Amino acid sequence: MLRNTEYPIDWSWHDAEGFGRMVNVSGTMTSLGGSIATQRVAAATAAAMPRFARIHEMQARASEVIARLTGAEAGFLTASASAGITLAVAGAITGMDPARAEALPQDPGPRRAVAVQMGHLCEYGAPVSQAIALAGGDTRTVGQSTLAKDYQLDAALDETCAAALYVVSHHVVDYGMIPLETFAEIAHAKGVPVIVDAASEYDLTGFLAKGADIVIYSGHKFLGGPTSGIVAGRRDLIRASYLQNIGIGRGMKIGKESIAGAIAAMEQWMERDHDAIRAEETRALQMWQAAIADLPGITPMRIPDPTNNPLERLQVWVDPAKAGASAAQFAEAFGRLDPPLIVRGHEVEKGYFQLDPCNLMRGQAELVRDALVHMLTSGADAAAIDADAAKAAARNGGTQAYMNWLA
Ligand SMILES: *Cc1c(COP(=O)(O)O)cnc(C)c1O
Repeated sequence: MLRNTEYPIDWSWHDAEGFGRMVNVSGTMTSLGGSIATQRVAAATAAAMPRFARIHEMQARASEVIARLTGAEAGFLTASASAGITLAVAGAITGMDPARAEALPQDPGPRRAVAVQMGHLCEYGAPVSQAIALAGGDTRTVGQSTLAKDYQLDAALDETCAAALYVVSHHVVDYGMIPLETFAEIAHAKGVPVIVDAASEYDLTGFLAKGADIVIYSGHKFLGGPTSGIVAGRRDLIRASYLQNIGIGRGMKIGKESIAGAIAAMEQWMERDHDAIRAEETRALQMWQAAIADLPGITPMRIPDPTNNPLERLQVWVDPAKAGASAAQFAEAFGRLDPPLIVRGHEVEKGYFQLDPCNLMRGQAELVRDALVHMLTSGADAAAIDADAAKAAARNGGTQAYMNWLA
């Protein structure tokens, strides 16, 4: 069974509760609900709702599944990857000391620094440095935004350093940073554990194999699980991180339903026909590319994901003089269609928007093709949108949506 193509195209399925519908070609976005679950994952989640469960027993089962999925010694589930970063840092600070766990984020003690390369200090919807601070950790910046050197990391890892954090993401600078193997070697020589934020990465075994002591994934991104964070790694560090549920982890807890759903999502991932899913995504990209390739001012190119994810997107370059509107204006205009087409627009200031095929439901690839041809052929709808406002919205829109809520 392909990922989400099992659902019939039935718009009432989308707005059964009266919520707005959309076609998501932007990727796995928190503000759009992350991903859509298969019926198997949805059923596992629903089945856990009307019953009691021993959470530690469920988490122990999750640990076994995480170990099979990642090759880690152990693991646990929490509310999100962001929570996973905070709990992993907290565990590295307190170890198995419950009094210290209860005290956080206060009294972290002198060993509270977390070394991070400056180019990895990203924002994924919130600042990664804040996930560290919530645990009482103190971000220790290594290098500059475009260059970090081995000796700079080595110098940062003194006895006040509890952990070193490494971020793998399209959000981070993709050159000049220390490769993970080298990063882990330098950290381990100083006895400092390495935490890898790989929230959105398909590679579930590689980062541990390259020396990570803990690696963190989102359950609700490519895995298609309920909102959750997967923390995998060395048994002692995992236990210390899980202990944080008696303290700061309380507000980050995961419930029985999401544990059940995340376990189902992980098992599904291990059984899924990944090649068939890739083929389906490629078919959509080829179809879109062919449909708009000859339109004036429009240059569609297939590009690989900036990290090693086995995923391509269609990058649609827009020449405003010939196309009638800018990439930012088109991105905004697609969002005003009925149903709205949410394109990947966070790099529109560079002159393109992108289409991500990883969240399509059955029939939507054709719907997207038709919307692309319609919108990009005339440019008139997009030209009516304020160009500067559209660019600013791409940069600030995420925060603005929170500011506007209930206003
Ligand atoms: C999405 C993402 C996060 C946050 O993940 P959540 O599970 O939504 O908290 C953290 N880091 C990176 C690199 C991400 O892409």
